[in-house]
This record gives sequence, C-alpha cells and structure tokens, in this order.
Amino acid sequence: MTRHQHLRQQAIIIAESDERQRNQIAAILREAGIGNLIFAEHRNDILKKLRSYQYSLETVGLMILSDALLEHETKNFCASIASVESGFGIPVIVLQDENAFAEIQQFVPLDALGFHIVAKPIRVREFLPIVNLCLLLRHERQLRQRQEEQLINQLSERKVMEARLKYLVAHDELTGLANRRTLEKKLQAAIHRCVNFGHPSALLYLDLDHFNLINDIEGHEAGERLLLAVINLLHAHLDNEHFAARIGFDEFCIYLDGASRQHALTIAERLRRALDEFRFVTGNDSYRISASIGIALLEPSRHIDHANQLIADAHQACYTAKKNGRNTVYLHSEQNIEVHRRHKDMAWLPLIREALIENRFFLVFQPVVRLADGLITHHEALIRMKGKDSEVVRPGEFIPVAERMGLIHHIDLWVVENAIDFLASLPEHSAVNLTINLSAHAFQARSLLPLIQRKLETTGISASRITFEITETAMVGNFEQAREMIARIRALGYRFALDDFGSGFSSFDYIKKFPVDFLKIDGQFIQNLLDDETDQVLVKAMIDIARKLGKLTVAEYVENPKVLDLLIHLGVDFAQGYLLGKPSTELLPFQRISLGDHRRLSPPISDPAPRD
Ligand code: C2E
Ligand code: CA
Ligand code: CA
Repeated sequence: MTRHQHLRQQAIIIAESDERQRNQIAAILREAGIGNLIFAEHRNDILKKLRSYQYSLETVGLMILSDALLEHETKNFCASIASVESGFGIPVIVLQDENAFAEIQQFVPLDALGFHIVAKPIRVREFLPIVNLCLLLRHERQLRQRQEEQLINQLSERKVMEARLKYLVAHDELTGLANRRTLEKKLQAAIHRCVNFGHPSALLYLDLDHFNLINDIEGHEAGERLLLAVINLLHAHLDNEHFAARIGFDEFCIYLDGASRQHALTIAERLRRALDEFRFVTGNDSYRISASIGIALLEPSRHIDHANQLIADAHQACYTAKKNGRNTVYLHSEQNIEVHRRHKDMAWLPLIREALIENRFFLVFQPVVRLADGLITHHEALIRMKGKDSEVVRPGEFIPVAERMGLIHHIDLWVVENAIDFLASLPEHSAVNLTINLSAHAFQARSLLPLIQRKLETTGISASRITFEITETAMVGNFEQAREMIARIRALGYRFALDDFGSGFSSFDYIKKFPVDFLKIDGQFIQNLLDDETDQVLVKAMIDIARKLGKLTVAEYVENPKVLDLLIHLGVDFAQGYLLGKPSTELLPFQRISLGDHRRLSPPISDPAPRD
C-alpha cells in the first residue's frame, strides 16, 4: 500500500449535530477520496464511538469536531485523544462558528489543547489542506511511535541478555551457586584482607562420595535433584558468613569468612555429619550419601599469593580425606607441602646456577601474526634450559624456582641481553621485532634499566623493535615504582604488553592505568573459545575494553583454524599459537601468512632440540 493510499484509508470521526453540515463535510471528504467515515451526532455519541474504538484507535486518523459539542467533559476527553503524550496522538479539527469565535476563544484556548481550528461555514479550499496535513501528521506520529517502541524493545532485550550473560559468567546454571571464577575473585579479596589486616578465613572443599554411582543408576535428572537437595542441606547448616561455589560436577567449595582453625573444623564436621545422616529418596529407593571434606586455612602466618593456591590446598586435603576412607574431614597440612616444595627447590638451585654459569640457557622464538594483513610482525622470545642430559627444560619448571630462590634477576638480565644480541646478530635491514618476557620481579632489579640503555648504545638496535611483556603481578604490590620504571623504559622507545590479560584479578579500572601498548589475552580464554560461551563473552569484553583504552590486542594459544576465524571476526589485532607457528630456534621469515589459507599451514615448526 502506498503512503497516499494508507492516508486515505484511515478512519475519520465526524462529530457534528447539524445534519446539513455533516453531509457537507462527508461530501467534501468523499470527493477527495476519503471514504472511511464515522459519524457522531451528539456528545454522548462521540464518547460512545470513541470508546467503542478504544482498542483500535490506531486506525483512526482524525477527528472533526463541531464546537457545538465541545462542552467540558468532551473537551478534556478530546484533548487527551489529541495529545501525543497520552499515546493516542489523533489530530482533532474543531469547526468553530465564526461569530462565536472571539467569544469562545477567550474562555477556551482551543489551539493550546492541540486542536486545529477551522471556521464555519467550511470553505473547501481551506478545509481540505488541513485535513490532509492532519492525516499526514498522524501517519508520521505513528511511524515514529512504532520506531520508538521497536528501539525500546531492542534495548530491553539487550539489557536482559546482558544481565543474563553476567549471571552466567558468575554462576553455575544448574544450582545458581557461584562458579569457580567468582570464587577465585572472592578468595583473592580474602587474601588481600588477610595480608593487610590479618583477617583469617577458611576454605572447605567438599566432594560427594559415590555421587557418580547414583547418577549412573538413577540418571542425570535424579543426579541433579540430588545436587539441589545437597545444596539446600548445606545452606541449612551454615550461618550467613559463608559463600558457596560449585566448582566441579559434584564438588563444592565453601568459603568461611573470619573462621579460625577450630571454627572451620567444627563447621566441616557438622556438614559431614548432616550429609551422613541425609537420605536421598527417589522412586522406591533410598540412598545414603556422604562427603569427603578438605580444609585449607587462610592465616596471616601463611604466605599465599593466589586464590588457586588456596583452592589447590583445600583440594589436596579433600583428596587425602577420600584416601582416608571417605566420609571424613582432613585439614590441609602446610608443612608437608612446604617440605616437598623446599626439597624440589633445593634440587633445582644448583642446576639453575650451573646453567647460568655454563650458559646453558637459550631462546626460542614464536611468530606473532598481524591479522589485518597476515604479516609476521614480531616474534616472542621464550627461554629454554638445556638439562644435564641435553634435554630441553621448559620455563614452567625453573622460573618459579628461580623466583623463590632469588635467582630470577639473573635470568631476566640474561634474557634481555641475549634477545637484543640476537637482533644485533641478524643481517642489517632484517625486519625482525621481538617481544621479551620479564618476570614479576624484574622492576626490582636495579641493573635492568642501565642494561637496557647500554644495549641500545652498543648494538645500535632501535628500541622500537622490542616490546617487553609483563604480567599484572609485576604491577601489583608496587604499582608506582613499576609505573615509573615502565615510563622510563618507554621513554627510550621500547613498548610494553600486558601478558596473561584476564587471568589476574585487577579490575578493569586498574588496568586502565597500566602504561602498556598491547593487551595479550590469556591463552586459557582462547584455547576453547569455540565451545565455551563464557570465554566468548569475556574475550569480546576484553577486546572492547582494549579498544576503548586505545590498546592493541594479541590472542595467544591459537591452535585451531576456527578459533582464528572467530578471533578475526571479534576484531583481535594479533594472533600467536601453534596453528601459526610453534616456538623454534629458527625465525620464520618476515612473511605474509594468508589467513584464508591458515588451514594449509601445517605441520608447524616444532619446539627445537637445544643448540650447542
Ligand atoms: P607466556 O609468556 O604466556 O608464553 C606463552 C607460552 O605458551 C609459551 O610456553 C609457549 O610455548 C606456549 N604456547 C604458545 N602457543 C601455544 C599454543 O598454541 N598452545 C599452547 N598450549 N601453548 C602455546 P613456554 O615457552 O613454556 O613458557 C611458559 C611461560 O614461562 C611463559 O608464558 C612465561 O610466563 C614464562 N617465560 C618464558 N620465557 C620467559 C623468559 O624469557 N623470561 C621470563 N621471565 N619468563 C619466561
Ligand atoms: Ca609472554
Ligand atoms: Ca601469556
């Protein structure tokens, strides 16, 4: 239907008591092709007709009203019909006797009510244009109203979706309990409180015994009902100072704020007994269930850096509780772990020292690809150690030991020195850029800045070819000192990337203040990106934030072509991972990787045998 036809089809209410007048109006309108007319002869009739139209007033395009019918109640009613705010917005033309005009106008400012005034007797040439204008006005109003409604719907849909996503990210859908990520955040805050204010707390790790059995025999649906019953039971036996999360299929963590060792033991024992006495009835069967509970304490005397460490401790205690015959409580004993760790550190210490002296470290390089054009724009330098039997040792083995044993500065300096020397050893004009990992303690090494300065002078390498990768941990603790160091190093022309972005616990507000050029999204969010909706939401949020902050994004652990496609779609700037190239002693040439062809890019060059 054309707009013209649409306008002609709208109904027009003609409220006029004078029959001759009514017929004249109808004739003018019909002549103009407007035939959908409704007549009202007296006041009550107007109200009746309008009210009977109440639910389809959208089809009414205009009301023509004689001033003879315009007493108080009708006037108010028609004013509300004319008003856009009321939601009707039907234009009203008032036919006004020319003689009565001045007199009535004094008392009733009709046009202020939104009415259009036409003088009686009607002159066609004056009347028709106003009718047409009103119909057009009505049409435009309806159009706008529809658009607004649509927009509001879209907005509220989006709000609901966002709220739901937020909830999903933080909660376990089946039970409504918090999930692991939320628990980690909670614990990280608890660690801060413990370190800074000596505030103790405890974490229980609860694993249902033989849950799988019931799940297998009675089916998933019964299994889920059992889980919900257990959660109700837990809540009933806990006071308000607890926080429960579901972190495995039948594994729960309960954080007890302010709990002492004794209090934690009492609560754990209470929960154990309650579960032991509980019977789960399904159909004609009744099952007895129980739980193994591990406890880890957060005490000022204990040094814990990270939430995962506390969860791991509680988990280990739970494992011991299971080994001890299930349906038991076990308190994590730090001593055993500490002793074990110290033994391990002591064994590594001489190996690291020797490797430093005998220069048994070497670097491998992993390409980083710019997704806009598929160019390998830089390589990440990763350290390796050649073991006693020439086996290659990955940094995960020795870097944490070196950090604990105070040898990490030597490694940081070795890496910086050797990475820059490597660049200098390349033929001139080779367009290789490197990223270099710095440990969390690097900024505390006083010799770092002088070394970086000296290297520029002696090698003539441009600082713009080097980006340092740091993690949030390097900033936390001594933010101002770290920021100042970064500022000084950047002033030399080096750039910075925040590594493992998203894995830490700094708020985005805090990240804003990090003086870095790149955000490197942690590989744990990338690896399963296709299957994990939560990861998709988080990665998208990280990209949004990076963009708002004017920083470039790098995605690591890209192992799969479909993930790469998705990352390109999400707008990540750079990608790195086994799909695009494994770390190697040899550099991939400064080549363009055809991203459409990435499926053919196999097999990637593998992690190397050590160089002599
Ligand atoms: P990172 O900085 O996050 O480095 C990325 C790690 O992911 C590297 O492990 C790399 O080999 C691995 N990787 C790269 N692509 C993929 C992939 O597609 N899938 C998977 N699963 N892994 C991939 P690497 O070399 O074992 O290094 C581990 C960590 O050790 C590094 O994590 C970094 O924190 C530290 N590190 C490595 N080199 C140095 C160094 O020179 N200095 C310092 N301080 N730390 C280093
Ligand atoms: Ca890195
Ligand atoms: Ca990383």
